[in-house]
Amino acid sequence: MSEACDGNCSACGASCADRKEESLLAPANEYSKIKKVIGVVSGKGGVGKSLVTAMLAVAMRRSGYKTAVLDADVTGPSIPKIFGVTGKAQASEFGLMPALTKTGIEIMSTNLLLEDDRAPVVWRGPVIAGAVKQFWSDVMWGGVDFMFIDMPPGTGDVPLTVFQSLPVDGIVIVTSPQELVGMIVEKAVNMAAMMKIPVLALVENMSYFECPACQTRHEIFGKSHAMELAAKHGIGALCKIPIDPALAAMADAGTIEDCGTGPIEPLAAMLRETEESV
Ligand code: ADP
Repeated sequence: MSEACDGNCSACGASCADRKEESLLAPANEYSKIKKVIGVVSGKGGVGKSLVTAMLAVAMRRSGYKTAVLDADVTGPSIPKIFGVTGKAQASEFGLMPALTKTGIEIMSTNLLLEDDRAPVVWRGPVIAGAVKQFWSDVMWGGVDFMFIDMPPGTGDVPLTVFQSLPVDGIVIVTSPQELVGMIVEKAVNMAAMMKIPVLALVENMSYFECPACQTRHEIFGKSHAMELAAKHGIGALCKIPIDPALAAMADAGTIEDCGTGPIEPLAAMLRETEESV
């Protein structure tokens, strides 16, 4: 440490042993008390990340927990639609109020703030990351047991900044069977390792289709490699969600809170256990 050190590392470039790393975390709103923050990520868009985020929130809400969803997929927000929430977010002098779904899940999303939710969000990366930070800092979430974050897809600059800005306790990787064969999932696992955030579960979405007539399972997108990958990376929970036209219909109609949450039960059970052991 230099003799002239005044303890303010942000104003000094010296790399001494006592250097305190500058935290990039956004401050939480003073009216928020959030116990567990879980990021839901995917290598690319369209694999069902938002649907899985919503199903997880539904499962935990049904178990009696205070649950919230922060829609960090700022340019492709689909959380309000999946939950059938159409109103706009209300603000008070203390901050923004999250919208409430039918069963009482709190949500915040760009679509609750835009006047016309069909307008494209053509913002650059730093503006997107800034919006997500505001969802954390400016929204009065109140007491929340589980907050699920629908992350921007991919492992680029925007998801990285979001990871660094929010105190994520663990991540859930959502993937399709084809992606498991490639390197996309490994990239997400490695990104989590770099950020020192544990991967709680691997969710293989659109894993198979079960014939309603004969109950035979067809692996439409090829044989599953999820088990090998989860074992290779020591991921504790593995969930397989079938291709289910009823799920797609509920997401389209905004009635996801009526869905069966059986396929994500291994992960929901794990989350309940962590909460009970606190
Ligand atoms: P992402 O958030 O990864 O971009 P979404 O959750 O928006 O993906 O899902 C993309 C589309 O696929 C949506 O129309 C959704 O309803 C549909 N979908 C996702 N998973 C399933 C599934 N298991 N069965 C049927 N449709 C699904």
